[in-house]
This record gives sequence, structure tokens and C-alpha cells, in this order.
Amino acid sequence: MNHRPPGQLRSLTSVLITSLTLALAAGTGTAGAATGGSGAAPAVQQQAPPRGKAAATANPLYRTGTMPTVTCSAGTIRQGSAASYRAFMTRINSCLGRAWKTQLKKAGLPFSTPKLRFVTSAVSSPCGKWPAGAGGYYCSGNRTMYIAVTRRNLKNPYGPNHAQFMAHEYAHHVQYLMGVMPYYAQATWRARPSAKLALSRRLELQADCLASAFLRGAAQDLELTPEHWNAMLEWTEENGHKAWPKNDHGKGTSQAYWMRRGFSKGSPAACNTFTAPSRLVS
Ligand SMILES: [Zn+2]
Repeated sequence: MNHRPPGQLRSLTSVLITSLTLALAAGTGTAGAATGGSGAAPAVQQQAPPRGKAAATANPLYRTGTMPTVTCSAGTIRQGSAASYRAFMTRINSCLGRAWKTQLKKAGLPFSTPKLRFVTSAVSSPCGKWPAGAGGYYCSGNRTMYIAVTRRNLKNPYGPNHAQFMAHEYAHHVQYLMGVMPYYAQATWRARPSAKLALSRRLELQADCLASAFLRGAAQDLELTPEHWNAMLEWTEENGHKAWPKNDHGKGTSQAYWMRRGFSKGSPAACNTFTAPSRLVS
């Protein structure tokens, strides 16, 4: 039943990568926030995302309960096939859109989809140069997720791994919609390097957690077994931090902690890294 020897599992999960985020676009909030209006009253009045620290510590998204179970027939990634990788990731992107649209609506926050761009070289963006070590990243300046398509990605592709990676990038867009990203940009502006790193870890670990909360709702269609999920966590514990020159994504054990938490609760309520004690975001 889908059991694989540990060695192979390790290699299957060895492509789990997260990304750096360069959030430089503070100030220009979303244009949402229609107030009043006519027609049937929505269950939750739509409002602009909170500003400042409250966006991170007391966001309405934390009170929206479990993420929906989404139908997500993303197919499989064929070894060596860039086309099937792009097709898979595009379908995951659309599953993410459906899940997060529902969740943001529950929070009364405006929703919009991010742009998705596949690249084969280290392109730059309004957020600057491609971050060293990253397999992809999200730029809030143009609401775009950049996903690298590399030989390494295609060598031993394991769907749920790449789904988690895609979901992490999407989670940064959700953080933008929540108002966390603008707060982050503002709070790290001229902050001391250590304070900046600490905030970066809270941001990145929250993205890990939100990604895993989504993954739980798509696990069945993605044929993610408990064995594979545990292998992904074990791999992350040992290796999650290794790609990053600075501790801006958290230790592997911290990453696995927030992934496990997001997955087991399946709710953004589990993902408030901004009020967590510093030992959990180290
Ligand atoms: Zn990231």
C-alpha cells in the first residue's frame, strides 16, 4: 500500500523547499472594502484588512474555523516532464484559490487571486533579485508567485511535496490579503538585523502552517498518506533550514512543528505565529 523504503522516501521528499519573501510593497493596500450597499446582507460584512500589528496578531482569519475540503484532482507529475509539472502546479493553484476564497469570505476579507509565473532562470521582480537558495517566491509588489522549473524538481517528483511548496507561496499571498505582509514590510523597515530575522521566521512559519492547513483539505485527492506526510515532516526536521544562509525561515524542527500544527487542526487558527513564544519560532 504505497509504502516505500525510507531511502526512497527521503529522496522523494528531498525537494521540499520553501521560499524567501521580499515584501517591499507597504502602503499600497488593496482597493477592496466596499461598505454598505444593497441586496442580501452577507453573513460577514466585507471589510478592509486590519492594519498594523493587529493584522498579524489578531486577524479575523484566525476565527474562520476549519479550511474546506476541496476537490483537487491535480493529476501526477511525470518524471522529467516540465509540462506535467506546470500543469500539476497550475491545478494546485486553482484548488488553493477555491479554498482560500471560501476562507477569506468567512473572515469578511476581500479576495483576489495571485498571478502565477513559471521561470527557468533566476528572474528579478519589483521585489528585487531572485533570493539565493529559493525554489520560488512571492512578490507582494505585483502579487506574483514565481515558481522555478528545474531539473531537480523533475527528477523524483512527489505530488504532495510540490503541493505543499505551492501552498506555501500561496500562503504569502494570503498574508498579503490579511494585511500581514504590509505590517511585515513596515515593521522590518529599518529594524535591527536580529529583529528582522525573528519577524521573517514568524512570517515564513505562518506560511508553512497555512499551507499545511490547506493540504489537509486536499490530502485525499492528492493521495497523501499518513506515511508520506510523516516522511515529509521528518525530512523537514532534518533539512528544512539547510537551504537558507541566514535563519530567516526557522529551524527544521520549527518548520515541522508549524506544518504539523496546521495539518492536524486544518485551520488558520492554529497558525498565529505572531503571538507564539519565541522558542516555537526559533
Ligand atoms: Zn516563504
